[in-house]
Amino acid sequence: MLKPGSVKIAIPAILEVGRDNLGKVGKLIAKVGFGKAALFLGAGIYELVGEKIVASLAQQGIQLLRRYDQEDLHVECMMDFAFSLPARIEVIIGVGGGKVLDVAKYVSFLNNLPFISIPTSVSNDGFASSGCSLLIENRRRSVPAQMPWGIIVDIGVIQSSPARFIFSGIGDLVSKITALYDWEFEEAHGKARVNDFAALIAKKSINSLARMDLRIDIREEFFLEELVDSLIMSGIAMEIAGSSAPASGSEHLISHSLDQLAEQPQLHGLQVGIATYLMSLVQNHRQQRIAKFLTDTGFFDHVKTVGFKKTDFAAAIELAPEVKPDRYTYLHLPQNRELAKRLLEKDPILREVLG
Ligand SMILES: [Zn+2]
Repeated sequence: MLKPGSVKIAIPAILEVGRDNLGKVGKLIAKVGFGKAALFLGAGIYELVGEKIVASLAQQGIQLLRRYDQEDLHVECMMDFAFSLPARIEVIIGVGGGKVLDVAKYVSFLNNLPFISIPTSVSNDGFASSGCSLLIENRRRSVPAQMPWGIIVDIGVIQSSPARFIFSGIGDLVSKITALYDWEFEEAHGKARVNDFAALIAKKSINSLARMDLRIDIREEFFLEELVDSLIMSGIAMEIAGSSAPASGSEHLISHSLDQLAEQPQLHGLQVGIATYLMSLVQNHRQQRIAKFLTDTGFFDHVKTVGFKKTDFAAAIELAPEVKPDRYTYLHLPQNRELAKRLLEKDPILREVLG
């Protein structure tokens, strides 16, 4: 019996981050006793890494009973597949970018099957969290699913992924700073209760990276391993909290709003990273540290090339509280929204980054 205040959480049983892990997938999965699997591969993934994984599963005698080679996020599209899986399947393996992992995670949740997450890029913490983002009636919505049963990351694969994905992962990670401050703000106003352990893990996840000497190449193995580990910790912090609060505050509300109103929404972590810097100015908390981190990693230089619009950010700031009316972040106060919009015009970094 759980005592009041204690929580029961799911932690991945397989957690492998390192070099040449793709060839070990079969061995890792066979070791825990799974013999029959369904495999979800994103577009172009078979050629990239899928072949290697299929061979490694075959080597261990793991039978592939179904394969799903697309990443359509429309729930309608995945339902037929989800409800026609052979009952003998013991595990679902997802390989690819965020989209296919979300589909595989949701199908595994619907079938109450363990899910093995094998990301080929780490543009956000979704590969290590229980939520997923799906298209429901053509709108992107966050839906609860389940924590991956296993996470296998091949650092060599992440190293060769496009730079924008790595920058997006950096942006999603730095947001823990403003998210945690919003969560404390919410608690101080009696609107939420901070789970101390979740907050501790989220804090450590960003600190281990922000305290590194970041004048190194972001493709360095050491840096990427830290980034991946930290994104995993962020996913687990949400699981402990039972909500996204430790990893997602006002900066995420701006990003969700941009997804709804921008003509061309950009990668989640790129939006979140800029919004994190903006909100650190509004919160007047750790803004130098965040500016330094995003400058030293090359994040700001990258986002300058993306084509972000100041007008979209201004509209997103206004819409932000409506995205989650039940929360109480800095942006839920009208004077802070005004300040945020003024900073878009005044702050030298934001003026340079946003067109
Ligand atoms: Zn995020």
